[in-house]
Amino acid sequence: MLQRGMTKTCKHVAIIGGGPTGLMAAEVLAQAGAGVTIFEAMPTLGRKFLLAGRGGLNLTHSEELDAFTLRYGAAAPDIAPLLTAFPPAALRQWAQQLGEPTFVGSSGRVFPKNFKTSPLLRAWLRRLAALGVETRLRHRFTGFGENDVLRFETPAGLLEHKADAAIFALGGASWPRLGSNGRWISALEGKGVSIAPLRPANCGFETRWSRHFVDKFAGAPLKSIALTFGGNTLRGEAVITEKGIEGGAVYALSRALREAIAAQAHALLEIDLRPDVSLEALTRRLSAPREKKSLSNFLRKSAGLPVIAIALLREAGPIPEDVSALAARIKCVPLRLDAARPLERAISTAGGVRFDALDGNLMARTIPGVFFAGEMLDWEAPTGGYLLQACFSSGVVAARGALAWLKR
Ligand SMILES: Cc1cc2nc3c(=O)[nH]c(=O)nc-3n(C[C@H](O)[C@H](O)[C@H](O)COP(=O)(O)OP(=O)(O)OC[C@H]3O[C@@H](n4cnc5c(N)ncnc54)[C@H](O)[C@@H]3O)c2cc1C
Repeated sequence: MLQRGMTKTCKHVAIIGGGPTGLMAAEVLAQAGAGVTIFEAMPTLGRKFLLAGRGGLNLTHSEELDAFTLRYGAAAPDIAPLLTAFPPAALRQWAQQLGEPTFVGSSGRVFPKNFKTSPLLRAWLRRLAALGVETRLRHRFTGFGENDVLRFETPAGLLEHKADAAIFALGGASWPRLGSNGRWISALEGKGVSIAPLRPANCGFETRWSRHFVDKFAGAPLKSIALTFGGNTLRGEAVITEKGIEGGAVYALSRALREAIAAQAHALLEIDLRPDVSLEALTRRLSAPREKKSLSNFLRKSAGLPVIAIALLREAGPIPEDVSALAARIKCVPLRLDAARPLERAISTAGGVRFDALDGNLMARTIPGVFFAGEMLDWEAPTGGYLLQACFSSGVVAARGALAWLKR
């Protein structure tokens, strides 16, 4: 069914969700001459994409494609063809063509030169408008009607829309106030699309701090530490929160921590407070006479521990008197984690539309002509540009798939 007032001059594709995935799909389709309408629940497009740029927009990563692909863990075989279809180099070229050249940071991460999303998004939306892409804001997809018609809640009431093909790019369910809330699950399951439960990814974890510790250190960073879990050690930074711990190094281990907690109801994270000093060197330093220094002062001066690290040491139990045991504790403070923080506070979402519900073009096996892309698919990856890259690449593949479907 066509909406009233819409004339059918070419094949028409509905894109549902106006984040980076949906916008990329729209561009590929419009460039190939398809009519495109983006239906977006929020009053503006790309809200999470804009937020991603707040701390420096990490568009992708510079590592070799083989290593890059492994970042997607169990989903690597499904993500590999998407990355091949639209690799990191193509993404960088695309940004350059939008007037936003990129550079590789010291960590190998790729950023636009000015670090921000807003100029890139503005240029992109201008390009999409010039290509004739239409946008319907405040249109929230609520489910399918008869003959797979798409149903939307709009300020003017319920709207039904039939397109020649549809691409869903609804995101995950973290930061729901930015638009993606995961409330599409039952509508898709009702159509036979299999969905893995949504779970927090790149998330913080909960632990039981003492009141005194939280009052003094919530919000404070634990710098230059190393975290170990499941045989993986990562150097970096973490942040103490009211409920537990979060930050880059924690996010990087979050998949393994989350799975361990799901299996055993807790996970034991090990924190090395002085990763740059060996156990032997630390033991030597702690063997120096303490003289009249308080224990805190002694630890600060001889082991180079900041106040927050000493407090964390105390949180883990009585500080050992024996020098070797003390050095070993500083190199390995155990922290029991009891739960992942809720999905709405996570950076990204694990779970979503399962790849085996889709064909190689990301079209649903049970609803021909309906494609899925972006964070709503069942994959997860660490931060570092891997999230947006998979979104852009899957948007391109779904759009090319829709074009092939329209030509069939
Ligand atoms: C704080 C933060 C920082 C981040 N930084 C980075 C980074 O630097 N690098 C990186 O790679 N990744 C980063 N990410 C992750 C990245 O932003 C997301 O992976 C990416 O935005 C997902 O794109 P998407 O288009 O699939 O989904 P989204 O960006 O979530 O877009 C989905 C769109 O669909 C709309 N929508 C949802 N439901 C409906 C509905 N029922 N009807 C109509 N429309 C609907 C939403 O309003 C939204 O506009 C960050 C995330 C956060 C939270």
